[in-house]
Amino acid sequence: MASPLPLSAETPDPGFAELIAARPALSLHAQDGLLVEEVPLARIAEVVGTPTWVYSAGTLRRRARALKRALAEAGLRASIHYAVKANSNLAVLHVLAAEGLGADVVSEGELRAARAAGIPASAIVFSGVGKTERELRLALAEDIAQINLESVEEAEMLSALAASLGRTARVALRVNPDVDARTHAKITTGRSENKFGIGIDQAPALYARLAIMPGLAPVGLATHIGSQITSGMAAYRAAYARLAELAQELLARGLPVLHIDCGGGLGIPYRDEPAPLPEALAGAIKSTIGPLGLPVMLEPGRWIAGPAGVLLASVVLQKQTPSRRFLVLDAAMNDLIRPAMYEAWHGILPVSAAAAASPLSPADVVGPVCETGDTFTRGRALPSLHPGALVALLDAGGYGAVMSSTYNMRPLAAEVMVDGARFAVVRDRQSQEALLAGQRLPPWESD
Ligand SMILES: *Cc1c(COP(=O)(O)O)cnc(C)c1O
Repeated sequence: MASPLPLSAETPDPGFAELIAARPALSLHAQDGLLVEEVPLARIAEVVGTPTWVYSAGTLRRRARALKRALAEAGLRASIHYAVKANSNLAVLHVLAAEGLGADVVSEGELRAARAAGIPASAIVFSGVGKTERELRLALAEDIAQINLESVEEAEMLSALAASLGRTARVALRVNPDVDARTHAKITTGRSENKFGIGIDQAPALYARLAIMPGLAPVGLATHIGSQITSGMAAYRAAYARLAELAQELLARGLPVLHIDCGGGLGIPYRDEPAPLPEALAGAIKSTIGPLGLPVMLEPGRWIAGPAGVLLASVVLQKQTPSRRFLVLDAAMNDLIRPAMYEAWHGILPVSAAAAASPLSPADVVGPVCETGDTFTRGRALPSLHPGALVALLDAGGYGAVMSSTYNMRPLAAEVMVDGARFAVVRDRQSQEALLAGQRLPPWESD
């Protein structure tokens, strides 16, 4: 089993200046400190408090446009369906809707969020290995663009449901191409042993069945081989080549294949690792699926949202033990779980320019949660930071707030959108009252 390519311990971490230079929305101002677009993070901390997620509307737009441009320049007819699970904040969805992006959703909640943000049902795809009858009913009622089927059992469920409602569901068959995307084991999805999709060997027979099942109209093939794919285009090319071959076989049998859904997964550089550009992905699609002449769909999540957010946190205290220096933040694994869950590396910047220019020494950056796993990084070169000093954890716009929990009875952090010189709270910090809301004692205990 391929584990993520380990970052060589010998290559030094990128410095603060390099981290900032590689992220167009960030700049360091001598007085105002670290800015997202034109807004000092210190100002947001003053008004909203910490921990707070801060999103850059400009970054979302820039990345949506870069992806559209890469696909258009490759001569592909393509539609982009942003994977809502990466960041489902309504303000984020609204910015992307205005860029003309559709949505890829995996739950009723995401479908409702996409619609509430103004994404038309005709641009929504429903993915996921366990859609409930209730969710399928909603998808049918909304008449969304496409439901991606992952199994025979699901096809039978949807067929019966659609037929009973007098509806026809446009469906794509999610194929598991059995390729190794060489990403983290917890986010690889295109191997035959993963729970996702239908084996490519069973696909032709099932697709032919879909065409005659009541209430279903097969419209294409879909795949999604994993997330945070940075190992190059080989796995994508292998998967897409298999899909193209399958599409050809289905077309030759007179079955309708109107488009190919290429999934998401494009990785981003969290540290300074080489990561493929959208042009490379467009090229991989062009060289494999291009010859079919069919329109394609893309479902990027992380690539759009990841670099568009930071997690702004305060230092609670700096703790020195005989062997280590700990920076204890007011943000924790319940906010940003990626380091604990995927051993993920996130850039950490002091917000104050003076702090950023101070002498560095190794520090473990941790949260207050009662788990050793509540560690953002170990041995990171950082200045001495006093209680109340601000830090920004970078590239936290995707799989950040959406994966938060209230573990340790910690309220969900606030979310803020920055657009140029403006900023606004786009999700309130959860209150202590809201944390307890809905809980009650059983009647026999409550007198
Ligand atoms: C998670 C997911 C995506 C998005 O993945 P990213 O790595 O964020 O681009 C796209 N399609 C499906 C079916 C997914 O499950």
